[in-house]
Amino acid sequence: MAAASARVDLDGKPIKPMQICMIGAGGFIGSHLCEKVLAETPHKILALDVYNDKIKHLLEGDNASFTERIQFHRINIKHDSRLEGLIKMSDLVINLAAICTPADYNTRPLDTIYSNFIDALPVVKYCSENNKRLIHFSTCEVYGKTIGSFLPKDSPLREDPAYYILKEDESPCIFGSIEKQRWSYACAKQLIERLIYAEGAENGLEFTIVRPFNWIGPRMDFIPGIDGPSEGVPRVLACFSNALLRREPLKLVDGGQSQRTFIYIKDAIEAVMLMIENPARANGHIFNVGNPNNEVTVRQLAEMMSEIYAKVSGDAALQSPTMDISSKEFYGEGYDDSDKRIPDMTIINRQLGWNPKTSLWDLLESTLTYQHRTYAEAIKKVIAKPTVS
Ligand code: NAD
Ligand code: UDP
Repeated sequence: MAAASARVDLDGKPIKPMQICMIGAGGFIGSHLCEKVLAETPHKILALDVYNDKIKHLLEGDNASFTERIQFHRINIKHDSRLEGLIKMSDLVINLAAICTPADYNTRPLDTIYSNFIDALPVVKYCSENNKRLIHFSTCEVYGKTIGSFLPKDSPLREDPAYYILKEDESPCIFGSIEKQRWSYACAKQLIERLIYAEGAENGLEFTIVRPFNWIGPRMDFIPGIDGPSEGVPRVLACFSNALLRREPLKLVDGGQSQRTFIYIKDAIEAVMLMIENPARANGHIFNVGNPNNEVTVRQLAEMMSEIYAKVSGDAALQSPTMDISSKEFYGEGYDDSDKRIPDMTIINRQLGWNPKTSLWDLLESTLTYQHRTYAEAIKKVIAKPTVS
C-alpha cells in the first residue's frame, strides 16, 4: 500500500485516503469506477445499489485488499432510512443511480422523472446539510438538440462549429415539446443540475456535475433474453451487440442519421478519478466527458460494428447487415432524438488536463471481443432450444 498512499494530486499535494459513498455502484459506470478505485487507490467504497451482479467479482473475489475496502448495501434510495447515515459516514458521495435507457423515457416517463429528479433530491439535501462533497452524474442529453438542427438543411452555417459544439457554460438546453416524452429524462436531469448548482451558490455545497457523452464498453446494459428481459430495449451498443450475436440485422432508427461521439469507458473513468482526487480543481464545475474525435452516424456505427464483429467472431458478416425501422415502431409514441453531440473539451482540459485516448475502432474491438466471449455460447443455447408452442 506504500505506493498507493504516496499518491499526489495534480498540484503535487498528497491525497488522503477517503471513504466514498457510491450510489448506483452496481451499474455499468459504477462497476468500472469501483474496479479502478480498488486497484489504484487506498480509498474505501460504500457501494449502494439494488443489484450487485456487475461488482460481484470485487465483493467476493479472492483479492483481500479489494474485499476489505468495499462494502455493499442493497438499498433502493427511493425509500431507505439508511441513506442519510451512509452519507454521513463518507467523505465524498458519487451519485450514479438513475433510469437512463432511452426506451424508458417515452414509455415510463413518470418513473424516469421520479428516478432522475425526485429520488436524487434526498442525496443532494443530505450532502448539503452534512457538508459532504457531491459528484453527481447528469448527461450530455441536457443539451438536447443543436442550434444548427433548426437551420435550413442546405445552410452553410450547419458546418460552423458555433452551431453544434456543446459547451457547458454557453450552450442552451433545447428540448422538444411536452408530447415528445423522450425529453422527460433530459428535463429531470437539467432540473437536478440546477438544484445542485443553486445549493452550491446559496448554501456552499461542494459539487461537481458530470455530463457523460455516450460512454461505452464491457458490462454496459444487458443482452435481452440472456441477462435481461427478452422484451427489454437497452442502449445502442447492447442492441447492436445482441443483433450481431444472434446473426440478425442491426435496426437503424429513422435511417440511423443521428450522430454521436463514443468514448471508451476506461478513458472516461480516468477523468472521474481526476475529479475524485482533485477537489480544488473540480468543485463548482460542470464537465463534459466525451471523445470529440470519435464521431459517427448511427449507420456508420452499425457498419463498423458488423465489420469488427466478423473479425473477432470469425463468422462472415450478413449479406444485409442493417435494416431501417421507424422510431415509432422501435420506441413507440413520443420518441425524439438528439441530432449531434460533440463535447467542447476546454473546461475539462483546463481544470484537469484530461484527454481521451482510445479510437472508436479500438474501443469497439475490445468491447466486441468481450461481448463475444461473454455471450456467444449462451445465445447459441437459446437459439438451439425449441420454442414452446
Ligand atoms: P446503469 O443503469 O448501468 O447504472 C445505474 C445504476 O443505478 C444501476 O445499477 C441501478 O440498479 C442503480 N439504481 C437506479 N435506481 C436506483 C435506486 N432507486 N436505488 C439504488 N440504486 C439505483 O447506468 P450507467 O450507464 O452506469 O449510468 C450511470 C449514470 O450516468 C446515470 O445517472 C446516467 O444517467 C448517467 N449517464 C450515463 C451515460 C453513459 O454513457 N453510460 C450517458 C449519460 C448519462
Ligand atoms: N439506435 C438505433 N438502433 C438501436 C438502438 C438505438 O438506431 O437498436 C439509435 C437511437 O435512435 C439513437 C442512437 O442510436 O439515435 C443512440 O441511442 P442510445 O440508446 O445509445 O442512446 P442516446 O445516445 O440516444 O442517449
